[in-house]
Amino acid sequence: MEEELYCIGCGAKIQTDHPNELGYTPQSALEKGLENGEVYCQRCFRLRHYNEIQDVSLTDDDFLRLLNELGKADALIVNVVDIFDFNGSLIPGLHRFVGDNPVLLVGNKVDLLPKSLKRGRLTQWMRERAHEEGLRPVDILLTSARKPHEMEELLAKIEEYREGRDVYVVGVTNVGKSTLINQIIKQTAGVQDLITTSQFPGTTLDKIEIPLDDGHYLFDTPGIIHRHQMAHYLGKKDLKIIAPHKEIKPKVYQLNEGQTLFLGGLARFDFIQGERASFVAYVSNDIEPHRTKLEKADAFYEKHVGGLLQPPRPDEVPDFPELVRFEFSIKEKTDIVFAGLGWVTVSKPAVVAGWAPKGVDVLTRKALV
Ligand code: GDP
Repeated sequence: MEEELYCIGCGAKIQTDHPNELGYTPQSALEKGLENGEVYCQRCFRLRHYNEIQDVSLTDDDFLRLLNELGKADALIVNVVDIFDFNGSLIPGLHRFVGDNPVLLVGNKVDLLPKSLKRGRLTQWMRERAHEEGLRPVDILLTSARKPHEMEELLAKIEEYREGRDVYVVGVTNVGKSTLINQIIKQTAGVQDLITTSQFPGTTLDKIEIPLDDGHYLFDTPGIIHRHQMAHYLGKKDLKIIAPHKEIKPKVYQLNEGQTLFLGGLARFDFIQGERASFVAYVSNDIEPHRTKLEKADAFYEKHVGGLLQPPRPDEVPDFPELVRFEFSIKEKTDIVFAGLGWVTVSKPAVVAGWAPKGVDVLTRKALV
């Protein structure tokens, strides 16, 4: 019998027969992978090398299978979310599946948010948002998977709440779950950077098992893809630009009604009606905002997208989705969130519009800062 192989990215069982199913790898890629000792399924390979995400339906059988297993297990569920893209990283309906199992909510990438933001305030904000989703976490922790020392607190919390049980780590793709798991492995098992299948063979559910010292396991589950993230609509270079790498420096604009702010060519914010006020943009430091008159904004975009307004780059403009408009009437301090890109904080009552590439959500939430 052939030896069973598992993707070192997501833990799916590698197969070469069904391109649309979990774990698919073309035969040639499999052979290459075996030579290098790194076998990825095509989905993870593309995600890693091209930042290209293959879409998987949120309601597909594997996802339901995963969620159902969470409910049946007697375990601590660690739900990793990206604090910079909180709405884009929630798992819809998670609370219905976890059963009586405690959930530890982990807000990753905290290094991206302005340091002036108090951690206590941030966790309180996360708690309120989680409650709105019906999720009642036993605890909320902020972390940065890029900083090894932050893992100690996470591991201590996991120990505290797992009470001798298994642990399931769940999260949508791109929240930094792999980075986090790799850090955990380094600190617990001392293995550097690689989740190898020989050490942690997957199981029926294509999850990765990391042994804990009392005979229990920490399971890394496959990332679930969230369709409305900006990441699905951009090329690799642009993704590098929109994904912030460093602490975000908020940019403040005094705007009068009838003014528009472009966030590169990716998104647009219109101040339609209201008193002159300050608006704060929280986006990657590499995205340059441009201010213009609302009445000229359509023509301005048409003329400058791919040029003055980048990303997208010029060669990507033909395939770049059109911007779609969402209008909001704001009563109190509110963030207009462009899923995966960032947000603009509106502090006074106003009528505004947010525009994002077709398919990407624009939504409002109680202001984070
Ligand atoms: P996964 O799909 O959830 O497994 O996510 P990855 O671990 O592949 O991480 C997705 C992206 O986020 C990568 O570019 C990581 O370098 C980045 N990332 C992960 N953790 C952190 C973090 O704590 N801070 C920052 N700034 N970036 C992170």
